[in-house]
Parts: sequence; C-alpha cells; structure tokens
Amino acid sequence: MNKSGDINSNRQQLLRLTDEPGTDHNAKVWILKCLQCSDIYGSNGTDAWERKCPKCQKAQAGLPIPTERDGLDWTREEHIIAFHLYNRIPFGSIHMRNPEVIELAAILGRKVGSASRKLANFARLDPFHLERNVHGLEHGSKGEEEVWKEFTECPETLALESARLLAARLGSNIEQVTDIDEFDLPPPGIEREAVVKLRVKQSFFRQRILSAYDFRCCVTGLTSRPLLIASHIVPWAEDVANRLNPRNGLCLNALHDKAFDRGLMWVDPDFIVRLAPNLREATDESKQTIEWLMSFEGKRLLLPNNFQPDSSLLAKHALRHHKI
Ligand SMILES: [Zn+2]
Repeated sequence: MNKSGDINSNRQQLLRLTDEPGTDHNAKVWILKCLQCSDIYGSNGTDAWERKCPKCQKAQAGLPIPTERDGLDWTREEHIIAFHLYNRIPFGSIHMRNPEVIELAAILGRKVGSASRKLANFARLDPFHLERNVHGLEHGSKGEEEVWKEFTECPETLALESARLLAARLGSNIEQVTDIDEFDLPPPGIEREAVVKLRVKQSFFRQRILSAYDFRCCVTGLTSRPLLIASHIVPWAEDVANRLNPRNGLCLNALHDKAFDRGLMWVDPDFIVRLAPNLREATDESKQTIEWLMSFEGKRLLLPNNFQPDSSLLAKHALRHHKI
C-alpha cells in the first residue's frame, strides 16, 4: 500500500499521498477513503496498511485532511477534474455535505467549501441559469469560463480528457471512473481502446442527462436508476455536433425510451408528451402495459433544473417521424 488506488485488507483505499507531517515519528498524512461507507479521513502513512474506518469500523478518529492547495489559483487540470464531477451530480446536490464534493476537495487538497463553490460557479455558466439570472455566483474565474467554452466547442475531447485526468489522480483507469462495465469490453488492443473511448463519451452524456433530471424519468417521474436511459432526441449516429449536447437528451424509463426511439412517442416543442394513436390498436394481451404507456399522452414533461431539452431538436425528432 503505497500509491493512490491501493486498498488495504479492511477495504480502506488510498486516495492521495501528502507531504503534510502526521502524528507518528516521520509519518506523512495519507488520505484514505472507506469503500464501505465512503468516509474520507487522514491517516499516518505508517498505519495506512492496517487502518480501519473511524466511522463504520469503530477505529480511532482520523487526522485532519490536508488542504495544502487552499488559496492557490486553480489550474486548468483542477478545473477539468471539477468539471468531471459537475457533470455527474444534480444541481441541487452541490453542497458541502455531499460525499462526492468532499472527495473532490480531498483529491485536490482544497477546502470542501472551495470545491463546492467551484461547482456552483460552473452552474453559473449554464445557459439555463444564465437565463434565470441566478445571483450570488458572480465571482467566477476565467479558468471556469475557459473549461466551459472548451466543453461547448469540443465536448468529446473534454469528456475523454476529464476522465483521463481523474483516473490518473486516483491511480485508476478511465473505465472505472466512468462506471463502464469492463465485462462488456473486447480484450486489450486497438479495438478495445476505440470501444472504451466511445463508452466514455456515452457515459459522460448519460451522467449529464441523468443528473440534470435528478435521476427521474421526465415522463413518468420514475426514479428507479437501473430502468433509466439517457435518450438522445436526435440520434447519436445522425447528428455528430449534438452527440454530447446535454440539450439533445431526455431522461426516460426504458419503455418510453424505446417508444421515443421508434417514433411511437414524441414531444411537442412546448414540452407536451404525445403518443401515437396506433399504439392502442397494437394491443393484444399486453393491454394493461400499453394503456399505462398511453396514459401520459398530453402530459407536460418534468423538466430538469439545467440543460432543458432544445425545442428545435424535439421538433426535428417529431418531424423525422412525420408527426408535425
Ligand atoms: Zn467506513
């Protein structure tokens, strides 16, 4: 146990080595994360190999987490790592008690409040919040704007780079930091690399959409995560420029996603859900399911807190299926 990513026999993972002195002779503070309860704490480097979690394994309290970069300017790399997290968490969850925000601060050596403020500042740049003129977030930095601009101009490049930078910090790989199922990948080689790149981009889109909608289907309100899909309004293959555009997405349950994909469902530009009348005719023994699917006809979408769907893309989808 001597580098980021290593895990001891008590399931405590080494998040980051620091140069701050610990309380043992010659010991430095290492930051550990409990893989059982996600608690993050400082440990003497000398104890890390056998350390137990202060919270769920009743070990002694941890040492304070060093914040040695507090007060220093944020680098481009730090901004991009923060942006990676901004992409994954719902707007309403950007606060100092969120374990993911606490982890970001620990990785970067910054105070939790500073990490939380950085994420809120990204939200400031979100077109939706700009339109609503959210106040109190005026004190953003140039670095945030630059990363936001890069993301808007080259989202695929930034999605990959943010995953790479975070993985390098954590001693992990990009498959792990983007929750890609490794069983699903070809063996190592050129083909695998291409597939991983594609999956990282898809995962970025999925996380962005699901978190924008607060992990809730925008038609039914369903919150069961395994059943939620980040649907493209205009399909991936058809519109390269809008592949990772979060305004080209809807968070849907698997059945409405399929109906939307097949043109059996569409959404009017004023966000009213429409279902094809011929769906009803197609019923047989599956009557109940079809009636449930149809019962959302005429309802208004449950809109996200940011990245509202683009009405012109909704119209394009409807038009493609000859609905308008
Ligand atoms: Zn624990």
